[in-house]
Amino acid sequence: MEYLSVTAALKSILESVDKLDVEKVVLEKSLGRVLAEDVSSNRDLPPYDVSAMDGFAVRSADVTNTPVTLKIIEDIKAGDMPTRNVQAGQCARIMTGAPVPQGADAVIRMEDTQVASTALTPNSLPQAGERDAVSLRELISDAVQINVAVKSGNDIRPQGEGMRNGEVVLAAGTEITPGVTGILATVKCAQVQVYRRPRVAILSTGNELEDIDDPVDPNKIPNSNSYALMAQVQALGIEPALLGIARDDPAELEEYLQRGLRFDVLLVSGGTSVGVHDYVRPIIEELGVQMKFWRVAMKPGHPIAFGATADTFVFGLPGNPVSSMVCFEEFVLPALRRMTGHTHLFRRTITARLTHDVKHQPGRTEFIRVVLAKEEGGYAATTTGAQGSGMLLSMARADGLMVVPAASTGLKEGEMVIVQLLDGTEYQDDGGFRE
Ligand code: AMP
Ligand code: MG
Repeated sequence: MEYLSVTAALKSILESVDKLDVEKVVLEKSLGRVLAEDVSSNRDLPPYDVSAMDGFAVRSADVTNTPVTLKIIEDIKAGDMPTRNVQAGQCARIMTGAPVPQGADAVIRMEDTQVASTALTPNSLPQAGERDAVSLRELISDAVQINVAVKSGNDIRPQGEGMRNGEVVLAAGTEITPGVTGILATVKCAQVQVYRRPRVAILSTGNELEDIDDPVDPNKIPNSNSYALMAQVQALGIEPALLGIARDDPAELEEYLQRGLRFDVLLVSGGTSVGVHDYVRPIIEELGVQMKFWRVAMKPGHPIAFGATADTFVFGLPGNPVSSMVCFEEFVLPALRRMTGHTHLFRRTITARLTHDVKHQPGRTEFIRVVLAKEEGGYAATTTGAQGSGMLLSMARADGLMVVPAASTGLKEGEMVIVQLLDGTEYQDDGGFRE
């Protein structure tokens, strides 16, 4: 098999993976999941015409010539039902969210009115402070002076304005964000049908590796890939299983890989290249994994392998720490998002102004780690420094991956470049590649 372009590799992956099956989860545990069913409203909201303001429900025809004094026939609070019709010359005191009484067709906000008369004489008002006395006077007044003219419908939220009974308010495929959670609660969905999340296993390989709880041996290489990959998977809301480190020994590797093939997705770090002890590819093929490709024209990270059994997708990721993370970003992330039912599979991209020249030999798509600075009119992108594929700090410091097209012969300071943002929760429907 020869080197595939990044686009062709992605196409191969996305043609293979699909949404997983569905499951029911409680609303409290559904944030970030994707709805597998349309959700309809089970009521009109608001359930009746309600007031949008604290004020007075009036007949608009009564208030065409203002000021005008209307008799207050009732007090309607949110949660009350009106008991009387508003007739000519009358109004009802009404609070925000309370039903508009029959007869009234407009609401005048409190600020556009003043107390017209009270049932009590000024002498009988309490001795409390002036503020208290004013609000008490408003409450016990039996008439109000309206100071402004309004049209029919003023400050009334009509029945069903928010949603209609039977209306599909959320379509299948919608990601559950906090706003969506609010809608689900509104329509009483205490449990929701969502796409299942894949079970993901992570395996590192290599005799030279020392795991996080092993004593420090200066001759060994700390296993960072298992943990960086773990965090990348967790950032997508999936809790992966860490299978540990398999030595470069065919029998041991086979045992670990067999365990990994019980998951929906197996990520194997290292051992996929052409070294004499890179056993991963031959063994997974022996175990029934059908290889789709194993080399991609990209930098960093060209020895990436992808294959599948009937139940498991296997990604053989490069051992170099930066390559491993970049290959996850470009290939594993969109696959996991597709499996969880998302339609926007890719990191959001922005365009940024390059602050320096970049050398590039045509042939491979390059992903350069950059920091971004906000500037007038947009962003400026600057490399994080040395870009060796083993230099993980270049990744740890990065805000994004700048995409250098495979055909590029180099970029110049001041050019506008595409940068995939490395964090954030917004995704889009293409990877921003130019090849
Ligand atoms: P490989 O792909 O197995 O040839 O490994 C390439 C490079 O990545 C070697 O220098 C390895 O030591 C390093 N490497 C492999 N696996 C890991 C890992 N899990 N964590 C950190 N570095 C690794
Ligand atoms: Mg190795």
